[in-house]
Amino acid sequence: MLFDERPKDRKEDLFDREKEVEEIISNIKRPLLLISGVRRIGKTSVLLVSLNELKENYILIDCRKLKENYGRKELYSLFSEALSSKLSYLKDVLEKVKGINIAGNYVELKWGGKNYISLSSLFDELNKKRLIIAIDEAQRLRGPLSKEIKDAIAHAYDYDKNLTFILTGSEVGLLHELIDVENENSPVYGRYYLEITLDRFNKEKSKEFLQRGFQELSIKVEDKVIEEIIDYFDGIPGWLTFAGNEYATMGKIEEVKKTAVKVAKGELENLIEEKTKKVSYITGKRYRNALKCLAKGENSWSKLLSCMEKEEGSTISTSVLDNIIQNLEKMSIIKDYEFLDPVYKEASKL
Ligand code: ADP
Repeated sequence: MLFDERPKDRKEDLFDREKEVEEIISNIKRPLLLISGVRRIGKTSVLLVSLNELKENYILIDCRKLKENYGRKELYSLFSEALSSKLSYLKDVLEKVKGINIAGNYVELKWGGKNYISLSSLFDELNKKRLIIAIDEAQRLRGPLSKEIKDAIAHAYDYDKNLTFILTGSEVGLLHELIDVENENSPVYGRYYLEITLDRFNKEKSKEFLQRGFQELSIKVEDKVIEEIIDYFDGIPGWLTFAGNEYATMGKIEEVKKTAVKVAKGELENLIEEKTKKVSYITGKRYRNALKCLAKGENSWSKLLSCMEKEEGSTISTSVLDNIIQNLEKMSIIKDYEFLDPVYKEASKL
């Protein structure tokens, strides 16, 4: 079903994206692939469909579950879960390894004490068999352990020829910061990766997507409504899916828009909270004001500055504004003073 809100994992359920899936499949022997694009563009779906088409063994690490300041315990628990799901394939390589305990169907990676296993050693052990390591929303690995993770990936890149890493990321600037191959000081410096960037559907594809989705639900929907959904949600497949579903239950496009904006607002608030927890000298209120001004169409540095100063009734330093803009860009919320997601734009007006 096209309007199923979970990521698709079967080729038959994935609309379009043949080219991207093919590109992943034909490059799967490379050490490192990246799948990037804004939230809801379909990265996880493309990843899962490709993995299933490949019929190779893989583990999937879902970093959405990691909190901003996660520690080794949380990270290792994600890896343990993923390894456990492939235990029948991996048992012989993980058995009797120092720092790994297999109890029943569960793989436990020791994360502390003297028997602890480093990520690099873990990858070396896994390399005894062919394995794809897929890491979803990998930018969330940034944080206290990021140097160690980069070291381990760089090590695996150079020595573990049986491993392929596929990383996805919604916050594209932050993903690039994690895999910073152009920075001489970065452990992954000088390595090559193939990046597959997912774009939104054009109008025609969006229309086909919606028509097919409604057809599957046996719901007749006027062209006018379909056009309105396309105009509002701008070809982002996850939003089209959301809108299709909501329209099927509510039957009113205005309600659908309102619900979407509410969802987006919640996500924006979470993103702001995470950001401000770390860099506390820029407050959440500042980010909200910046977003509000951007949503009003203040599309240059100076326009944004004067709008924000008016909102706040005080002056804002150049470095603070630069910082806000840079962060919003790295989080893939804006690019060149424009929102990448139309629903986030509407949510920013609230
Ligand atoms: P991302 O990982 O980029 O956030 P997902 O793969 O989770 O995106 O997709 C978001 C939503 O949109 C899911 O409900 C998914 O089923 C749907 N979706 C995305 N791309 C497609 C596609 N090409 N065909 C069908 N459904 C899609």
